[in-house]
Amino acid sequence: MSSSPKDLVLASANAGKIKELQELLGGLGIKIIPQTDLSIPDIEETGLSFVENAILKARNAANLSNLPAVADDSGLEVDYLKGAPGIYSARFAGEGATDATNRDKLLELMTDVPADQRSARYQTVIVYMRHGDDPTPIICQGTWEGTIATESRGDQGFGYDPIFHVTETDCHAAELDKVTKNRISHRGKAIASLLLQLQTC
Ligand code: IMP
Repeated sequence: MSSSPKDLVLASANAGKIKELQELLGGLGIKIIPQTDLSIPDIEETGLSFVENAILKARNAANLSNLPAVADDSGLEVDYLKGAPGIYSARFAGEGATDATNRDKLLELMTDVPADQRSARYQTVIVYMRHGDDPTPIICQGTWEGTIATESRGDQGFGYDPIFHVTETDCHAAELDKVTKNRISHRGKAIASLLLQLQTC
């Protein structure tokens, strides 16, 4: 990797995401430092799109660490709910939301929705900034298609994975081992694209 840095800050406090990003970026000889290890606080996600929020997060981490930063802003888009929870996926159930309360709220809203109207997808935008004033951040996107199941299954992954039925593998995302999820997920695809761009830029 010609332009890859030695140290990289991960602009996230989400343990599930950090784990996946560290696995996806591991083996490159880069030290991946979660921003929480540097006492960098989360920035308020005031953007109206994944890309705006990912840039806000990466810029905040790069500015406060003086290191290159990677941020992931992601979420679940449910067609029946006109794209909700979308950028609000982490806080869908309101103040103090947890993965479990977010899933419960979604399952409740989808009660009695017929199978052919349960389509959904994970979206992610991953931003890499060389420094806080980087005028040309690398921006990569990834999508993962599925449907909202009627019950939870599996104990892998995080977030909505127990109720996200993956079309490609015909099982819930939380039933996939981490290697398989990282190979086919929205995040896996976006990071693959980032690694390619880091090699060629
Ligand atoms: P963010 O930190 O604002 O990007 O929030 C992302 C939210 O989207 C997470 O808290 C999860 O609720 C959801 N999400 C994103 N990616 C995944 C995934 O791979 N599995 C399960 N939930 C995800």
